[in-house]
Amino acid sequence: MRIVQAGGWFPDPAQHSVEPEMVARAVAEVADYQQRFERDPGRARVSLAGVPHALIPTAIVARDLPSALAKRDDSQAVALVLHELGVLIGRTHATAFFEDRGIDEDDRLHRVLTGPAHFAWAGFGDVNLLLMDTSWDVGFAALWESVSSFSAADAGSRVRSCHLQVGYASGWLSEATGQTLHGTEIACRAEGAHRCRFVIGHESRIHALAQDPRMHKDRDRYDVLPIHAVRAD
Ligand SMILES: [Zn+2]
Repeated sequence: MRIVQAGGWFPDPAQHSVEPEMVARAVAEVADYQQRFERDPGRARVSLAGVPHALIPTAIVARDLPSALAKRDDSQAVALVLHELGVLIGRTHATAFFEDRGIDEDDRLHRVLTGPAHFAWAGFGDVNLLLMDTSWDVGFAALWESVSSFSAADAGSRVRSCHLQVGYASGWLSEATGQTLHGTEIACRAEGAHRCRFVIGHESRIHALAQDPRMHKDRDRYDVLPIHAVRAD
């Protein structure tokens, strides 16, 4: 199985294939890691593999906070805040995971493929990969879609709403690849699309990638690669 599209987006598709066992390895490793989710109310601590977390209702992030800030007439501010929050969470999760599991920079494809599984475990949404260019330089790019983004499901208005998810994806993939990647949402369920679609690429190319027709094809024209996060047991 390949994420590579027939039609040759990639210079040499044979060098950029993702085999099913690569996905299975990524999904299994994240599932094993996620077994270390712990809650200790006596100490008021929630942690994942030793990284402290705080539980926040998704409706607050998806609906109530944007609504509260919109009343201040600053909708751009909330998009920026949520995006940057997502970047920081994605980077933090990725850094902790790679360090804990001893996944070094030479194992970049594995680092990339664990991102979608962790994304689901963190409650941000499911992930299907539609395209990925595994040039390990400014050419790196990924096209993700999600049908279960909570930001879209709980959005209070019909606008692109998955700023947190885009930030998380770009933050994880930045840590995975060692590149400074940015992301943008090019379709969102909150505005009526069937699925949310995220483009992630190098900061110097993200605007061009977002406009690229190869990112906007109908779903059945991609070799869709689902990353099904599953429990370890
Ligand atoms: Zn969305």
